[in-house]
Amino acid sequence: MEHIRNYINGELVDPRSGVWLPSFEPATGAVHVRVPDSGVADVNAAAESAAAAFPQWSKTPAEERSRLLLRIAELIERRANELAADESRDNGKPLRLARAVDIPRAAKNFRFFATAILHSSTDAHATDATAVNYTLRQPIGVAGCISPWNLPLYLFTWKIAPALAAGNTVVAKPSEITPLTAHRLAEICIEAGLPRGVLNIVHGTGADVGEAITKHPGIPAISFTGGTHTGARIARTAAPMFKKLSLELGGKNPTIIFADCDFDATLDTVVRSAFSNQGEICLCGSRIFIERPLYSRFRDAFVQRVSALRVGDPLDEKTDQGALVSEQHLEKVLGYVALAREEGGTVLCGGERVALNGRCREGWFMSPAVIEGLPFSCRTNQEEIFGPVATLMPFDDEEEVTSMANSTPYGLAASIWTSDLSRAHNMAARLHSGIVWINCWMLRDLRTPFGGMKQSGIGREGGWEALHFFTEAKNICVKL
Ligand code: NAD
Repeated sequence: MEHIRNYINGELVDPRSGVWLPSFEPATGAVHVRVPDSGVADVNAAAESAAAAFPQWSKTPAEERSRLLLRIAELIERRANELAADESRDNGKPLRLARAVDIPRAAKNFRFFATAILHSSTDAHATDATAVNYTLRQPIGVAGCISPWNLPLYLFTWKIAPALAAGNTVVAKPSEITPLTAHRLAEICIEAGLPRGVLNIVHGTGADVGEAITKHPGIPAISFTGGTHTGARIARTAAPMFKKLSLELGGKNPTIIFADCDFDATLDTVVRSAFSNQGEICLCGSRIFIERPLYSRFRDAFVQRVSALRVGDPLDEKTDQGALVSEQHLEKVLGYVALAREEGGTVLCGGERVALNGRCREGWFMSPAVIEGLPFSCRTNQEEIFGPVATLMPFDDEEEVTSMANSTPYGLAASIWTSDLSRAHNMAARLHSGIVWINCWMLRDLRTPFGGMKQSGIGREGGWEALHFFTEAKNICVKL
């Protein structure tokens, strides 16, 4: 069985503890790799190696940094099939999805920031005829990057690529639940010739490795994606140390469908936006509001489409819904289906554990659930479930749906479906949401600001937002 290793100072090394934790394949419920149970000593070594590499890396010309990052992108593309298979086994997601979305996007993240730094400029402010100011954007030093299990390599590289491109060195931690493609990235960085210590990857639990990164005095910036509770905990530690913080947290996203929408296009995308990756995407629309005149027609068609989604072996090309990431997570999601029933909801389809045959008979599968009859304010409609569960709610007018959509503590993403564009623009401006899609979902342009408001986080990733986060602005004023 493969033993994953840490990547510190340019080398693959064992954890100081000499202990590895089991990492499971969700589709089979069996241990498939072992992940280092690292701790403070490993993080200290990684931070030391990153600090030693910083002076040289931050002075490396942008063109050379760009060349190395593009080389990493090329190698990801070259190993795309193997990486997609690893991602699917580690996370339970359909191989088809990993091949089409996760791995190409990981390569794209490197390409995007590798080329962005060749086109960057900074501000200058002329103060009448008295002075001229110019702004330098300088890398911060060692950046800490901590990522979750749902889009493992995709989100890991979404942080690492801009941090490195901007001239920082990095100590990164992938989720201990899905460590495999981060390990492959380490192999790729070695092959690409990334200088020692520029990127360090320490595997292990949040309580040990994540906390050690957050507390380390030599890591002045933390970019974190994960749950809201974890984000709050990180903020409590990092804020008094005046660390720079970017927090991309949970969501409970509304999908708002008006009777004048393009029915077929809406139906196609809303099935995807609710259930892609088993609903384990922070952007998934799990609360679906439908204008009353369209309610029954949309509900019936939606239930029919969702019931037809094939739950199966993630490695099977015909599978639509793979396994949930862990047994604990599956229990949590099934617990929410039970809660929805207690709260008076009607489960229109799914919501049951699914037993498959053959190699997947012990896997963590469930049928995607559609629920109606719940008030917008109940727990099922307020708390993040992060699984294949969507609720349907009718609405009568824009006022009502806007206030229901805005009623949760979260504010990550929303989608609006209508042919009345002026209504869509007005509503988009009023939604408490960092991202609003009109007549589409997860249509991404990597230049746009990405992130949430309220308990969905602080700060934005993507484009200049990310490069600004990973740099300090310094104003220099020259008297004329
Ligand atoms: P999580 O918060 O449990 O873990 C995320 C990462 O943080 C993991 O690497 C984990 O080991 C680490 N961690 C855990 N405790 C820590 C601590 N005390 N200090 C430092 N690090 C710690 O989240 P998860 O279950 O892996 O991911 C699911 C969550 O992520 C969902 O809430 C989802 O909405 C959110 N998410 C948000 C976005 C976004 O862009 N806003 C994207 C994907 C996922």
